[in-house]
Amino acid sequence: ILYNQIQEAKGNIRVFCRCRPLRKEDLLAGQATVVQFDAAKDGELGILTSGSTKKIFRFDRIYTPKDDQVDIFSDASPMIISVLDGYNVCILAYGQTGTGKTFTMEGSDTNRGVNYRTLEQLFKIADERKETFIYNISVSVLEVYNEQIRDLLATSPTSKRLEMRQAPEGVHHIPGIVEAKVQGIKEAWNVLQAGSSARAVGSNNVNEHSSRSHCILCIMVKAKNLISGECTMSKLWLVDLAGSERLAKTEVQGERLKEAQNINRSLSALGDVISALATKRSHIPYRNSKLTHLLQDSLGGDAKTLMFVQISPSEQDLSETLSSLNFATRVR
Ligand code: ADP
Ligand code: MG
Repeated sequence: ILYNQIQEAKGNIRVFCRCRPLRKEDLLAGQATVVQFDAAKDGELGILTSGSTKKIFRFDRIYTPKDDQVDIFSDASPMIISVLDGYNVCILAYGQTGTGKTFTMEGSDTNRGVNYRTLEQLFKIADERKETFIYNISVSVLEVYNEQIRDLLATSPTSKRLEMRQAPEGVHHIPGIVEAKVQGIKEAWNVLQAGSSARAVGSNNVNEHSSRSHCILCIMVKAKNLISGECTMSKLWLVDLAGSERLAKTEVQGERLKEAQNINRSLSALGDVISALATKRSHIPYRNSKLTHLLQDSLGGDAKTLMFVQISPSEQDLSETLSSLNFATRVR
């Protein structure tokens, strides 16, 4: 209850900033860290830009390289869990490739990220509430690559490509999308793994491909309140965005140029939508990219949005770090 009160007072958009540790190769190359965490507890981050200049950024939460997956999930989970109370929720990880977007969302088998912990907790709470609610949970796994939506759970190549449709009442509808019913964490996790392996098909470098596409997991929750008879349907989106880095000039040609333009377009469209929502503008430009169009009914209204802005502490990434922090400041 308290969380929802805070939530109402502060609006429905949160930005959490997470900095990954310096890597061995950064240390060996003598890279210094440009990020200061003295006031991290107060939501302040210092970036040493040049010489002794320090630029301050403010976010709802700051995570230092010492904070772990459990710390992050415990702060994010009240918002995430509200999908069981009928809210649409959207969690996004934004940042340069290599800053830990996939680490935060997917994690590893021994160090689970937001996606696994979310499903685990949803099933646990659904079970605790079984005297009062019947929950039906299903999942979809999608990717958006070059402004095309692909259904990673579709079995035939022809059913893989999806198009959005706007139903007359304005409700969103994606004809043909696979929504896999799942009864528990094991089953859900198997479905997600199947989706991940489908991503690899047809690309010669899986890591590169996934850093250039938006990886999207949608958890749909149908709830029936056994006492009041009320039924709700809500969605939770968990999005590992394409890398936000700008290309080196030498790389900008051919297929890579097209990819970069599409990534750029969809990330700016996302920034435009969230900042229009944050400043309560009357027109929200959802239709400027496939990504924002897809997320339309879960961004804005009483939907809840949480963005993780992921950064590197290293000196060599300074300009990308500043660009990510500026992006995240704009949407706050
Ligand atoms: P991205 O998805 O943004 O490209 P990754 O999640 O693949 O980045 O992270 C890049 C590397 O850094 C991986 O080897 C990952 O395990 C590691 N890493 C990222 N964040 C952390 C962290 N907070 N703690 C430890 N290792 C991390
Ligand atoms: Mg990644």
